[in-house]
Amino acid sequence: MKIGVVGCGVGGMAAALALARAGHRVTLLEAFETPRPLGSGLLLQPTGLAALRALRLDEEVRAAGAVVRRLEGKDSRGRRVMDLVYDHWKPGAHGVGIHRGVLFQTLHAALPDAGVELVTGARVIRIENPARPILHDASGRAFGPFDLAIVADGSASPLRSLLRPRARAPVYPWGAVWTHVADVDDRFGLALRQVYHRAEVMVGALPVGRDPDGLSPTGLALFWSVPVAGLDDFLAGDFAAWRDRRLRPLWPELAALLDERDDWSGFSKALYRDVSVGRWSDGACTLLGDAAHGTSPQLGQGANLALVDAVELAERLKRDHRPVAVSVKAWQANRRRHTGLYQVASKALTPLFQAHGGFWPAMRDGFFTPMSGLPGARHMAARLLTGTLRLGRFPRVTRP
Ligand SMILES: Cc1cc2nc3c(=O)[nH]c(=O)nc-3n(C[C@H](O)[C@H](O)[C@H](O)COP(=O)(O)OP(=O)(O)OC[C@H]3O[C@@H](n4cnc5c(N)ncnc54)[C@H](O)[C@@H]3O)c2cc1C
Repeated sequence: MKIGVVGCGVGGMAAALALARAGHRVTLLEAFETPRPLGSGLLLQPTGLAALRALRLDEEVRAAGAVVRRLEGKDSRGRRVMDLVYDHWKPGAHGVGIHRGVLFQTLHAALPDAGVELVTGARVIRIENPARPILHDASGRAFGPFDLAIVADGSASPLRSLLRPRARAPVYPWGAVWTHVADVDDRFGLALRQVYHRAEVMVGALPVGRDPDGLSPTGLALFWSVPVAGLDDFLAGDFAAWRDRRLRPLWPELAALLDERDDWSGFSKALYRDVSVGRWSDGACTLLGDAAHGTSPQLGQGANLALVDAVELAERLKRDHRPVAVSVKAWQANRRRHTGLYQVASKALTPLFQAHGGFWPAMRDGFFTPMSGLPGARHMAARLLTGTLRLGRFPRVTRP
C-alpha cells in the first residue's frame, strides 16, 4: 500500500517504521524544517518497551536510558504519599527513563534503512477525499493519493477537527516547566521521584540516562507544575528566588543541581490537552497517538500508547485482508480498550496532584494513599503504572 503519515513525533515515526518494514511505501510529512523533540524526559513503560522490541529498537533505548523501578511521591513534610513499584506487577519489571532527544534520534535514525521517505517543511493543512486521501501542505504541495493516511500530529492536532468535526481537546488547566540537568553522581537513579505541597506544587525528577550529545551519561528531567494561566509570568519571574525560596526548602538536593544556573535558559514549558474524539477514523484516514487520545502526562503513558498504536496498526494490516477502512476501524476499536482506560484514569487521578485548594490533596492523603497500600489495590496500581491495564489481552507483538 501507499501510506502517508503526518507528524514526525514518536507515534508518526513508529508507525512509518513499522509499516515500511512490513513492505508498504511510506511518506512521512513533518511541519518543521528540522524536526526535533520538545522537552526533556519520558518514562517508557513495559508496554512502550514491548512496542520498541517489535521495532528492534528496545536494546538501543535500554542502553541509552535509565532503569526506573518505582514511582515515589512525598509531601512537603516528607510523608510518603505514593509508592508504586514495578515489581508489584511482575518481579524484575521496570520502566526506562529516556531523554526525548535520544528516543527521537533512535527512531529517526532507523527511518532511511526502512525506506521511509521523510519530507520536512510540509505543514499539512487539508485532507482531500478521506476515502483515498490526498494531503495538501501550506506551500501548495499535494501528496498522494494514498491508500491510507495516518494523522499523528500531536495533541494540539490542527487536522483532527477536519476528520472529526466534533472532537474536543481543551487545554488542561495545569502545565509544567521542564529542564534537563546532569546528575553527575547518579544520586537520583532507579526511581521517578515527586514532592508535593498540597496539590498546588508538584516537583519531580526522572532519571533519563544519557543526553543526545553524549555529554552526560546520567541526566535527570526536572519538572515543576504551574497553572497554565501563570506559565508565562512564572518564566518571566526571578529564577534564583524560585530556586532558593520555593524549590530548595522542598528538595534541597535537587535545588543544588541548579546552583550553577542563574536564569531560566534550558527550561521549556509544556501544556497538555484532554482529547476526546469518538471514532478516530474517517474512511482511509485515521488519527494515531496524542491526536487521538492525548491526556495529562501524570501517568506517563502518552508516548507508550502511541508506540503501541503504531505497532498494532502495522500488525493488523499485515493479518487483516479486508478493505483498509474496515481493518483500521477494527484496530481502533481494539486500541480503545487500552487507551480509553488511561484517558479515564488520567482524568480522575490528575487533580490529586495538580489542583488548587485542600479537597483533592485531602482525598489523596486520606483515601488514595492508604488504599493503594492494600495487596489487591497494590497490584492494580502497579498495572496502571506499567501501562498494562487493558480490557482483553495484548496481541503477541506488543505483549509486555
Ligand atoms: C511534559 C510532558 C511530559 C510527558 N511525559 C511522558 C512520559 O513520561 N511518558 C509518556 O509515555 N508520555 C509522556 N508525555 C506524552 C508524550 O510526550 C506524548 O504522548 C507523545 O509525544 C505523543 O506522540 P505523538 O507522536 O502522538 O505526537 P507528538 O510527539 O506531539 O508529534 C507530533 C508531530 O506532528 C508534527 N505536526 C503537527 N502538526 C503538523 C501538521 N499540520 N503537518 C505536519 N506535521 C505536523 C509536529 O511538529 C510533531 O513533530 C509527556 C508529555 C509532556 C508534554
